[in-house]
Amino acid sequence: MTNGTKFCPYCGERMDISARYCPKCGTHVQAYAPPPAQQYQPAPPPQPQYAWEGYRRESRPDAAIVLSIVAGVLILINGLLVAIGGAFLLVFFIPIGIPLVILGLVFGLAVLLGAIKLSQSPGDHITWGAIILVFSLLSIVIGGGFVVGMILGLIGGILALVWND
Ligand SMILES: [Zn+2]
Repeated sequence: MTNGTKFCPYCGERMDISARYCPKCGTHVQAYAPPPAQQYQPAPPPQPQYAWEGYRRESRPDAAIVLSIVAGVLILINGLLVAIGGAFLLVFFIPIGIPLVILGLVFGLAVLLGAIKLSQSPGDHITWGAIILVFSLLSIVIGGGFVVGMILGLIGGILALVWND
């Protein structure tokens, strides 16, 4: 079944859409519009409905995401070790353990969250890049993820910020 057909308005003969004369009765058919019911309707071209989303998902700041995940994990581990140290401090010296525990968790998790959100919605790379950058920087007060974590987080955050989608 082809759509490229029309019908002779006189005898009803089916013919190719480009035919100028009815092959059956010889009527000059080009001037006549084909019957509406049989009108050739080209299918609309497929609409790229999610073109914008697709475009966004095409590329991700992968380097920034990976660096930030590593940074977040290092900051978290460093934070936990500091917290353990802080627990000793709490017992033997001064009660700085609790704030350090909270800071370590907050900074490490914030950097991790930034990395995860960055991979989920790269379009908001400015927001998540800034969060990764700021919390990586702040992590210095609890050891900066053995310093390496903080540096990776700074690089990851900057890469996320300048990432061009
Ligand atoms: Zn005809």
